[in-house]
Amino acid sequence: MNLCSLTLHELHDKLKRREISSEEITESVFQRIASTEEKIGAYLTLCHDSALVEAKRADSLLRRGEPASPLLGIPVALKDIFLTRGAVTTCGSKILGNFVPPYDATTVKRLRDAGVVIIGKTNLDEFAMGSSTENSAYATTRNPWKLDRVPGGSSGGSAAAVAADECVAALGTDTGGSIRQPAACCGIVGMKPTYGRVSRFGVIAYASSLDQVGPMAKDVTDCALMLEAIAGYDPADSTSVNLPVPSYSRELDGNVGGLKIGIPGEFFIAGMQPEVERAIREGIRILERQGSRVEEISLPHTEYAVAAYYLVATAEASSNLARYDGMKYGLRVPARDLTDTYRKTREQGFGAEVKRRIMLGTYALSAGYYDAYYLKAQKVRRLIKRDFEEAFEKCDAIVTPTAPTTAFKLAEKTKDPLQMYLSDIFTISVNLAGLPGLSLPCGFDAEGLPIGLQIIGKHFDESTILRLGFAYEQATEWHKRKPGL
Ligand code: GLN
Repeated sequence: MNLCSLTLHELHDKLKRREISSEEITESVFQRIASTEEKIGAYLTLCHDSALVEAKRADSLLRRGEPASPLLGIPVALKDIFLTRGAVTTCGSKILGNFVPPYDATTVKRLRDAGVVIIGKTNLDEFAMGSSTENSAYATTRNPWKLDRVPGGSSGGSAAAVAADECVAALGTDTGGSIRQPAACCGIVGMKPTYGRVSRFGVIAYASSLDQVGPMAKDVTDCALMLEAIAGYDPADSTSVNLPVPSYSRELDGNVGGLKIGIPGEFFIAGMQPEVERAIREGIRILERQGSRVEEISLPHTEYAVAAYYLVATAEASSNLARYDGMKYGLRVPARDLTDTYRKTREQGFGAEVKRRIMLGTYALSAGYYDAYYLKAQKVRRLIKRDFEEAFEKCDAIVTPTAPTTAFKLAEKTKDPLQMYLSDIFTISVNLAGLPGLSLPCGFDAEGLPIGLQIIGKHFDESTILRLGFAYEQATEWHKRKPGL
């Protein structure tokens, strides 16, 4: 048995009993990377030498036998959007090709404090804009289940790395689905916590009213353990909320009796892959068999979510990305004068999708159009949020598909941005409303591609959706399947 194929909690148990060492796990992960990474392309940077130093440090702490964090000595991967002190952080963009951050993101620091081993930085869509990881300026990441398919995006590198056992768990970010959709495409568990639950300090900003950091893992228990480590108030992020962080992993008892689950009719749309619908309906039946009660609910403004999101997100992106001017960080293309330097740096540094979004967002915010686009989108956002508030008066959690289809073919949607945007149709409204959402494997299509089930919770109620996910996992074996690489 390869150590890299075990879950975080299984490895922790073995480390605690001193049956294995962190160095052995880390070596097993790098061996796996040596044999599969050429096919997958999950990583942009590998940190082999520092990882071994970190593993040895973890082993010496373990030898002392003091009570250890469940993450001590565990190899994790980071989406290349998290600032890592001294290690290049590109965000998938040429404009940050040579950017070495002077500090760690708060979440990275928390993982380091817990004693993790950082394996490397994973591929993503440039500035997290995309649903397939194909907008990366650097590399193509392939779906471990079928190499002609995308891994989803934008956290596609992290999802593929977890699915291929090229790390034990990973961090991603989710602005409109970028943790949950790739988790669904790659057959792993991913969670977007409530807006404000996890610090974004040191995470490269895309759309600041939507961005959130979250775990990507092999099962729900691992997801809970990762969330415990990264969640909580951070004075350096004014949007982080000062609420106690529950011991999510300890609350996983498999008992969901009496919980009320809402099923929104609007999420079962024409055009959805029939196998996806079948798997979700079966998933709902399993939760029912475990004692939860199912209720039809309505989220009537769902059909406007994609349009509202692509106005709000692009508007915020146009403002956030103004900082890449060739002066402060990364690429600088020297030219005639200052304005020309700005222009040439941005022209050469940004890819096509990023430019498209900056233009869309700048347009939506411009005088004369603001009311028609940005302001209207904000009003729609308010209505979407209210839909959820009303729904949560009747239920404790909402179950939907994570994405309308399984992983699509590489290059299938790159020529048609609207088609690409529509793959986020089930994840986006959760970000607009600031709610927590979990995606977990719930079946496979005829081609052997994984299907994801999404569980949406109330604000700051990650506990309930993790408990539901865990109970579901106890009754199924989907999360145990591995791609035949
Ligand atoms: N696919 C969506 C977008 O392109 C979501 C991306 C994300 O969550 N970062 O904006």
